[in-house]
Amino acid sequence: MNRRAIVVGGGFGGLAAAALLAKSGWEVTVLEKNDSPGGRARLWVEKGYQFDMGPSWYLMPEVFEHFFALFGKTREDYYPLRTLDPYYRVFFAPGKPVDIGPDRSRVEALFEGFEPGGAERLRRYLERAKYKYEIAMAEFLYKEYASVFDFLNFRMLVEGARLNVFGRLDRSVRRFFQDRRARQLLEYAMVFLGTDPARAPALYSIMSHVDLNLGVHYPAGGLQAVAGALARLAAEQGVEILLNRNVRRIVVENGTARKVLTDAEEYSADVVVVNADYAFAETRLLEPSYQSYPSRYWERRVLAPSFFVLYLGVKKPLAGMVHHNLYFSEHWERHFETIFRRPSWPDKPCFYVSCISKTDPEAAPRGRENVFVLVPVAAGLEDTEEVRERYADAVIAHVEEMIGEEFRSAIEVKRVFSHRDFLGDYNAYKGTALGLAHTLNQTAVFRPQFRSRKVDNLYYAGQYTHPGVGVPMVLIAAEVVAGIIRGARS
Ligand SMILES: Cc1cc2nc3c(=O)[nH]c(=O)nc-3n(C[C@H](O)[C@H](O)[C@H](O)COP(=O)(O)OP(=O)(O)OC[C@H]3O[C@@H](n4cnc5c(N)ncnc54)[C@H](O)[C@@H]3O)c2cc1C
Repeated sequence: MNRRAIVVGGGFGGLAAAALLAKSGWEVTVLEKNDSPGGRARLWVEKGYQFDMGPSWYLMPEVFEHFFALFGKTREDYYPLRTLDPYYRVFFAPGKPVDIGPDRSRVEALFEGFEPGGAERLRRYLERAKYKYEIAMAEFLYKEYASVFDFLNFRMLVEGARLNVFGRLDRSVRRFFQDRRARQLLEYAMVFLGTDPARAPALYSIMSHVDLNLGVHYPAGGLQAVAGALARLAAEQGVEILLNRNVRRIVVENGTARKVLTDAEEYSADVVVVNADYAFAETRLLEPSYQSYPSRYWERRVLAPSFFVLYLGVKKPLAGMVHHNLYFSEHWERHFETIFRRPSWPDKPCFYVSCISKTDPEAAPRGRENVFVLVPVAAGLEDTEEVRERYADAVIAHVEEMIGEEFRSAIEVKRVFSHRDFLGDYNAYKGTALGLAHTLNQTAVFRPQFRSRKVDNLYYAGQYTHPGVGVPMVLIAAEVVAGIIRGARS
């Protein structure tokens, strides 16, 4: 009989790990509490608008290609992909947009306009970012760090010092650029990693290579369609995906996980892989004596932000927007302060707006727009109906100001998703959208480990482990954990 793996949670991490284990001959069941696979990548349909509820940026396409190749497949077997042009539009002040896209000469001209010599400095910055990225892909990301010596190996120490990998990202950017707008363009992607440019290690300048060199892409149907593709791939490998299965307990006997209990059933297991929120699983699914990271550990972590998300169906075209739009005000540092140092609702927020109906005609009825507004906010904030109403109103006003166009009166669908939804729908610790921030102390070996320290056959795969936050990172984590299980249990 095949050995049996139970995967708790059907997000990208769970589906990917399940598919890989099934390919290696395991009998795999995924237990997902919600009614669709994909975790934070879910679809919400209302009045003909199709909202991609979670991730919307398809970055690092090579990671997806690599993943499908592990199964002898290609990404084209599952979904078409197109490169966006522009990649995104940035507003540095209301009504003042600039577009960033594949035409490098235009991006360089923009940086030259920010400050003299900017084009040449951008070239140098991106060359270094590319070099770091290539080292990271070859030696850093697809790896388990069991000890600090694994992480601080000779290469890392030499290259780290040479490339200023361990310094602060914001300072490293400042060595190249003084202009606020140039710095914001090179720092903003830290929000993708749930962190603050003032606390992120300069290693993460690789994110500028990711967006400016590798580009921003759109999979037909959005990121939830990619989640659907992964579920299909997993099913093709023989994985059983069971939805509406809320896991309540992992039963451990003598240091070995034996069973997983849902509300109504029990599943025996030779191996358990947890993709659900790590903090929740450790503190709520396991007895205290089997918790590698008890409550006090999580209380001391730097949490990634939660998101205040608005899904809006707008019954008129919005001329000022493209597919991805970013608003970076002069209150940039103040906004990060409200997330990481003085938790409060930012009154002058920077935000992201996606309008996928610009690219995808299925996303909204004809002549209408599918608008998704995301404001990063501190985890753990009070999230009442009254706060939501007030904040939604203010955010809509900010977006109108950004594009210089009234659309409030044309909103026919409106939904807020914030802290208590992240908590209720995903068991996310303090309603964080992204788990743990990528500070230096929460990078690589300093992130929660793939293997439980207390339970012999219990593993974790998802955004909390190395390499961390974001769909490509989670696919990498799944590959690493599947390799660990194969190695430990063959
Ligand atoms: C609004 C938003 C926008 C984002 N934008 C981007 C982006 O543009 N690009 C990008 O790459 N990344 C983005 N991210 C980050 C990315 O979505 C995540 O890093 C990634 O999807 C995490 O995948 P995961 O498998 O680790 O976790 P999850 O997606 O959270 O999956 C975990 C699963 O476990 C399930 N679960 C929890 N508890 C239980 C239980 N008790 N029993 C059974 N199942 C359980 C949950 O329901 C969930 O389905 C975004 C995230 C959010 C929230």
